Amino acid sequence: MSLIANATPCVTGSSPIRHDWTREEIGVLFDLPFPELMFRAQTAHRQHFDPTEVQISTLLSIKTGGCPEDCAYCPQSARYDTGVEAAKMMSVAAALADAAAAKAAGATRFCMGAAWRSPKDHDLDAVCAMVEGVKVLGLETCVTLGMLSAAQARRLKDSGLDYYNHNLDTSPEFYGAIISTRTYQDRLDTLAHVREAGIHVCCGGIVGMGETREDRIGMIATLASLPEHPESVPINMLVRVGGTPLTDTEALDAFEFVRTIAVARITMPASVVRLSAGREDMSEETQALCFLAGANSIFYGPKLLITPNPAQDRDRALMQKLGLVPMA
Ligand code: SF4
Repeated sequence: MSLIANATPCVTGSSPIRHDWTREEIGVLFDLPFPELMFRAQTAHRQHFDPTEVQISTLLSIKTGGCPEDCAYCPQSARYDTGVEAAKMMSVAAALADAAAAKAAGATRFCMGAAWRSPKDHDLDAVCAMVEGVKVLGLETCVTLGMLSAAQARRLKDSGLDYYNHNLDTSPEFYGAIISTRTYQDRLDTLAHVREAGIHVCCGGIVGMGETREDRIGMIATLASLPEHPESVPINMLVRVGGTPLTDTEALDAFEFVRTIAVARITMPASVVRLSAGREDMSEETQALCFLAGANSIFYGPKLLITPNPAQDRDRALMQKLGLVPMA
């Protein structure tokens, strides 16, 4: 009892939206005894969401492989021999057929990803047609296409796009160890263009890439001090794909992953926190802890772009065991 009391001098009664989180404050959250951290995350979660609801998204790769960028975690980079064949962009009709199937399986948001450094303006014709078609099906839309100019962001907004995904990946300090072909500032610029266009932001990062806890703190501090918090914050566990430079990276302890989710929940209490890549290798118990820590979104479907994801039947069974229901 005294240990807890000493370690947790103040238990928050409310979770205001703050944009001035310091690294020190975030470090203190990471250091909390696990039950206290979970309590605070639960408290924040319940002030903004129904904790039994999970938002379901489906992610489709509309243009796979052959990417000129060098993101060290990514099997779609043309620089690494990962066995991923570069393919042309899929047709609008094929993407819409996948979207209809995702809707029938319970998804409320359909995300489409293309392995580009940034889209060419003519690529956007097809992407905008996909966005318009998916909207007609009654699904929310999200795309991830790489870096965007301000004009491209406005064009996507005009097509009806709801969300744009562009991750910060990690802390500003560790970033250079992971990617050399675009800067952290490039990423922030794209996020600013997306915001200025009036599109919701989906932005998070990847843990387990060999970064330190200080880097995880730095990543969350950057996300939580954006002028507006991303509406959606995906927290990914690295999938160590053979052929990428990170294939032999030591696995991150599951509790550290859960702590990262909990700290994201506390610092960005009104954002949807997505338990994203890496679920295929996670036990049901770890995933349940992530939901307790405030994760309230998952990707549904057998593949996450090109890496495996738990089959929908397994997800349905887990949600049923935990008494979780899809968010309307
Ligand atoms: S930009 Fe995207 S697709 Fe290209 S290497 Fe990086 S993560 Fe992969």
